[in-house]
Amino acid sequence: MRFRKLLSVCCGAAFCIAVFSLYVMLDRVQYVRQVDNQPDHLPKGQLSELQEKLSQLEHLLEENHQMMNRLRDSVRVLSGEESQVNQLAMVTALKGSWSWRQVNGSWMLPLDFRTLEAGPILTEADCHFASRMQHGNADIQMADMFNKLPFDNPDGGVWKQGFDIHYNNDDWNKQLLQIFVVPHSHNDPGWLKTFDAYYQDQTRHILDGMAKKMSEDSRHTFVWAEVSFLAKWWNDTDNEKREIFKKLIKSGQLEIVTGGWVMTDEANSHYTAMLDQLIEGHQWLHRNLGIRPQSAWAIDPFGHTSTMAYLLHGSGLNHMLIQRVHYAIKKRFSANRSLEFLWRQSWDDEGKTDILCHMMPFYSYDVPHTCGPDPKVCCQFDFKRLPGGRVSCPWRVPPQPITVDNVQSRAQLLLDQYRKKSKLFRTPVLLVPLGDDFRYDTLQEWDQQFGNYQRIFDYINTHPELHARVQFGTLSQYFAAMTKVAGWGDGPTPRSGHFPVVSGDFFTYADRDDHYWSGFYTSRPFFKYLDRVLETRLRSAEILFGLTLAHASHMGFSFELAKEDFSRLVQARQNLALFQHHDGLTGTGKDPVVNDYGSRLHNAILDANGVIGNAAQFLMLQNRRAFDKSALFLNVDEIRTSHDSLSTQNIIKLSSSLSPVVIFNPLALSRSCTVRVRVNLFNVHVTSADKRAVPAQIVPLWFNKTTISTKEFEVYFLVHLPPLGFALFELVEAQMPRLTVPSQLAILQGRSLSSFEPFRMVEPPLEGTDLKIAVAHMKLRFSATSGLLQGVQVKGWASEMNLRIDFAWYGTRSSRDKSGAYLFLPDGEPKPYVIDKAPVIRVTEGPLFSEVKTLLPHVTHSVRVYNLPGVEGLSLEISNIVDIRKEHNRELVMRTTSDLDNKGIFFTDLNGFQMQRRKLWKKLPLQANFYPFPTMAFLQDSHTRLSLLSSQALGIGSLKNGQLEVVLDRRLMQDDNRGLGQGVKDNRITPNHFRLLIEQRGLQARERVSDPYLAYPSPLGHITSDSLNHPPIVLISTMSSQASLSLRPSVHLLSRHLPCDIHLVNIRTLQSLTDNGPGDDVGLILHRKGIDCSLTPQQLHNNCSSTEGKVMLEGLFNGLNVRSVKPTLLSLLSAHEHKDERSRSSSTDVILPPMHIRAFTLNIK
Ligand SMILES: [Zn+2]
Repeated sequence: MRFRKLLSVCCGAAFCIAVFSLYVMLDRVQYVRQVDNQPDHLPKGQLSELQEKLSQLEHLLEENHQMMNRLRDSVRVLSGEESQVNQLAMVTALKGSWSWRQVNGSWMLPLDFRTLEAGPILTEADCHFASRMQHGNADIQMADMFNKLPFDNPDGGVWKQGFDIHYNNDDWNKQLLQIFVVPHSHNDPGWLKTFDAYYQDQTRHILDGMAKKMSEDSRHTFVWAEVSFLAKWWNDTDNEKREIFKKLIKSGQLEIVTGGWVMTDEANSHYTAMLDQLIEGHQWLHRNLGIRPQSAWAIDPFGHTSTMAYLLHGSGLNHMLIQRVHYAIKKRFSANRSLEFLWRQSWDDEGKTDILCHMMPFYSYDVPHTCGPDPKVCCQFDFKRLPGGRVSCPWRVPPQPITVDNVQSRAQLLLDQYRKKSKLFRTPVLLVPLGDDFRYDTLQEWDQQFGNYQRIFDYINTHPELHARVQFGTLSQYFAAMTKVAGWGDGPTPRSGHFPVVSGDFFTYADRDDHYWSGFYTSRPFFKYLDRVLETRLRSAEILFGLTLAHASHMGFSFELAKEDFSRLVQARQNLALFQHHDGLTGTGKDPVVNDYGSRLHNAILDANGVIGNAAQFLMLQNRRAFDKSALFLNVDEIRTSHDSLSTQNIIKLSSSLSPVVIFNPLALSRSCTVRVRVNLFNVHVTSADKRAVPAQIVPLWFNKTTISTKEFEVYFLVHLPPLGFALFELVEAQMPRLTVPSQLAILQGRSLSSFEPFRMVEPPLEGTDLKIAVAHMKLRFSATSGLLQGVQVKGWASEMNLRIDFAWYGTRSSRDKSGAYLFLPDGEPKPYVIDKAPVIRVTEGPLFSEVKTLLPHVTHSVRVYNLPGVEGLSLEISNIVDIRKEHNRELVMRTTSDLDNKGIFFTDLNGFQMQRRKLWKKLPLQANFYPFPTMAFLQDSHTRLSLLSSQALGIGSLKNGQLEVVLDRRLMQDDNRGLGQGVKDNRITPNHFRLLIEQRGLQARERVSDPYLAYPSPLGHITSDSLNHPPIVLISTMSSQASLSLRPSVHLLSRHLPCDIHLVNIRTLQSLTDNGPGDDVGLILHRKGIDCSLTPQQLHNNCSSTEGKVMLEGLFNGLNVRSVKPTLLSLLSAHEHKDERSRSSSTDVILPPMHIRAFTLNIK
């Protein structure tokens, strides 16, 4: 009985296939004829025409063969699933096009689109790194310190958050107390005023004053951090001042600290942008002043990341200083005299990443909190606050001008503070910063500070019984003296054992009480989103520009737009760099400042798009010599009408002639994914450049909740893209496009659509039953009432995983202290998101993807799964469009809830560079348990890892087992008393995109469940994150079909993909040393990631292979020669300037240790 049934099914199916194949052949032959009949395609010999048809037929036969194979497979599957035999409605002709449904009801691609080249070859050695039980051998693990500290916040006396400090007068009898007072001015490149307004009103006066006043007395010193302001001043000022400035640098009176374009935010920023702004600053300093900074100075970022320590160390800095650290941690570090430590990466066993770090002990970087523990005393030594001035001391004891009469008592009072402060450190060398925001903007202030201090110094230095020597100094002068006393000698050799080794990070920052700065992880999320759009776009522009120049030069000419496009790149770099500032990306500027940043980001995206379009056109041309800047026609298909609008796409007007669409893959791995374009017709036939039909899915555009456009459609089509390469596709109007399938739609809780061409409307599920969508790798279940995810059945798993998504609200406190741009001060646990009426839910199903979209009043929320082979098909895509503009003191969160027993442990990324372990600390308030989330967070139990990947920075927490909670947007009506002076009320309609990845942990991983500090993403986790962050770029033609004739079918910029654990961070063209144009060399930056191989699915079908960190650069760039490779610092500067030429190596193989970033300058032609 069973066999007969099976046989009849087989025969039936075989018949269907045969009929279908015949139809397909006819259709294809017809199509080939149609295309060939077009006049554009004619001038070919008859022979070649016949050859082409023959090869088409051969291909069809091959397809047919594959179909038969598939049928055989299906029968095999079915023989074990007799009960489902009746569901074998495999081939359904839907409006004459192709459509496949599997036995389980899920959609299916044609066979030759369903598999990719098989899988990963990860060497054992590459997997070894993550499976070690190492964690940096640090003396202090920040995670342990959090565990131990009581966070009880007792009153510490004059040093409120600390303790009384005692000393004996004879403590310095044997060795003098050596004090370096370091004058500085903190210049925010945008906060209460825009960058330009600050420059005009204050900063240029500060720099002018510096040039004037400091040359008057060689004892006077200063440190300067923000190169963005310096570069602007440099352009504006005269040669005389530039020369004075250079002299001050040369004499050591003036030091450029950090040398970044800005003092970057360290929480929300991605390491690539952090590095970009550092490169921009260091390159500027190198070109204009011939210097490379030695010490870093970060007095204002709201919490500190070990990623910054890594980047600084890699850029050749020897020392760094940080300030905004949780007061309880400062207190513990002070008590243990650990404020100076070697900061080591958690994953570094050997200490090769160590950098000497100084943590400032007190509340702030202003004068009252830097001379010693008592702000009431220290404030009296801020001589800008002398009576009669605009600022005064809140402790109500004003400074006194220093005179012969009072100098003794004033000196003793100040020295007492210095001595107390020095008791917190291990050496008798003391650092005392002297400055504040936008200080020294009048000549008078230079005189007030330097004059009064000099009188005190002169007194102390001429009284040996005080056993102190005090002077103005720079940061590096301090470090040099301090390390010398510590026994380090002159060189930076962090091996003395004099300082403790610390691993971990300094989030989440609290400056007092329960005032945790976790609000800014999400504040102004629209611009956090836009920042990352620019990041990926600029990266593509950089890489394409660099390789375009190299290809042109290889052919013996120069690219026509080299200068023009390079200056657009530089503009874009500087705009992105500016936004990394700790009041930019953080969302803590005033409204007009936010708009100023927004339009800079917007302009930068337009600039990057322009550079991409030009480079794409050059690279794609059959005849690159024919490149003509007056006949450009390829453009990035993106419309952004203003700096805060959502992006949209052009409508491609289809006709019987071909519309070319060029896709660029910015990843150095090949990929298969869908791309989307908008068209004016649904009967669109998509072909790849070799004229093969490509599967496509038509999706409606919605006018409103339940009405669709009949004139415009979205078409998604499947693309296989080469690593770092272009592929050409063509769209044409066709009567019955064989592989184009209109989506199947269902609407719940809304007026049902009458069947709209060409979509098939299906009945929503019956009341009380769940909504289901399925693709090859998984099946999703949603509530038909709320439209929200309830469960996921992963292919091959025994049971459905309980995985729910919901939304919730936080309010703010009713007390005086309320949430604002910086602070998150919630009124307790989040309240469920409740709405009066069940939402409209739209279900879209098709062969490429299926999606459930829920139209909640504040979020358009969609969960989509792709029916694609490889990486794309293995995770859920979650997109939200958030709008809370009508709310009052509310914050919206999205939660993913599972049954995972993660025991309060979860992991969040630091700047997309590394994963940091987090724990739910019940002893801390709720807001302390939120962390930055620039790219990735995961939690795991012994069997499963659940990762949430993001393409923008937001705040995240895990307040319950199995749960991750992301803050999507915040609307706060008041200031939170951190100087901004306003709430956050300029909310925008904000998009965000996530991927949710479910992986099984292998046996090896389960054994390691107790590893307390470290975790690494799987190769799949990394690749999914990179795919999310670097989507393919679609370029369309503004010219007729003639255009595509002149284009190549594809361009492979790389001859091979990179190993899948190596990310191509950038190829960045260096500026010429002689003019503003591009120079001859490019900077190449590579990052080798740490990978955890013990998670499944390991089969990525993505050519994932590893090479133990070895990258052969020779022959890597198709059609180009790598003429020299020179290892550099991460800032692309030479580590040893004088060895410049000798270090140019003839070997073009480079090796990266796991987790490391390496940079090189290349000469490619
Ligand atoms: Zn600042």
